[in-house]
Amino acid sequence: MKKEISITQIEQAVHEAHDLYRDNHDGKNADYIPYLAGVDSQLFGISVCLTDGHIIEVGDTQYRFGIESVSKVHTAILVLRQYGADKLLSMIGADATGLPFNSIVAILLENDHPSTPLVNAGAIAACSMVQPTGNAIAKWKAIVDNITLLSGSAPVLIDELYKSESETNFNNRSIAWLLKNYNRIYDDPDLSLDLYTRQCSLGITAEQLSVCGATIANKGVNPKTGQQVFDASLAPKITSLISTVGFYERTGDWLYTSGIPAKSGVGGGILGVLPGVMGISAFAPPIDEAGNSVKAQLAVRYIMNKLGLSVFSGDSVTITV
Ligand code: GLU
Repeated sequence: MKKEISITQIEQAVHEAHDLYRDNHDGKNADYIPYLAGVDSQLFGISVCLTDGHIIEVGDTQYRFGIESVSKVHTAILVLRQYGADKLLSMIGADATGLPFNSIVAILLENDHPSTPLVNAGAIAACSMVQPTGNAIAKWKAIVDNITLLSGSAPVLIDELYKSESETNFNNRSIAWLLKNYNRIYDDPDLSLDLYTRQCSLGITAEQLSVCGATIANKGVNPKTGQQVFDASLAPKITSLISTVGFYERTGDWLYTSGIPAKSGVGGGILGVLPGVMGISAFAPPIDEAGNSVKAQLAVRYIMNKLGLSVFSGDSVTITV
């Protein structure tokens, strides 16, 4: 079916969502990374970027928060750009674990397989794959440049967050070395882990994440810069990865109720992709037990339902002025 939605309707839905959930106090900031516990828990922003680059936003959309697990999407894209879809599947995988993002048990259960670049094990493996192998400085530049191309502007490392994560990432250290044990990491484990930790510590805004979502929705062409960042054939691969595991072990419930593939991070950010239509991001620090921002998920779900949009509807959506 053809479906028309006006920009005014989107603006209304975005503002309603912000008004409705602004005073919600459920959830709490992640505290296993000390920096995140100290972020102002009242911050709340929503940004929608349409595939023509038009941005609709409200609230704290320019605040730079820790990108955390959302960066797994960006680096999966970099690996897809450098290696192609088949290699990502054979070297990492594309399967949901159904277990928490940092699960060590999942690595053992998955037959030594990291399973997907969107959980910690697969994301550390993805960092290990970034070329050029062995060159930490050049690999880091490739990771940051890729995020910049996808977002239309550069992320900024939050030094304090990086220090905080590096001092407390014992579980991730175990994951990196367990992957080494199974030959599932493709560069030095410590180097790969450090890249992963650093990418999680990048500061990003909700607006930047919405532009990245729109670049994926727009088949690899960044609608703000007009640049083709990745091959159009990779867009459905990326969206499928996000669909299966983006909300940790709550991904099924999320897709069922919101209708949009989205990736969340413990910094409180969400990046959603509605192919052919828009990227959407929301940010609010307090998270639920699975690691998903409470207010951001309420807001994105509200907007999708209010507009009657779903990736599963089969509708061909046109945005009118
Ligand atoms: N840096 C965090 C970790 O590895 C990211 C977790 C997340 O956002 O899901 O624990």
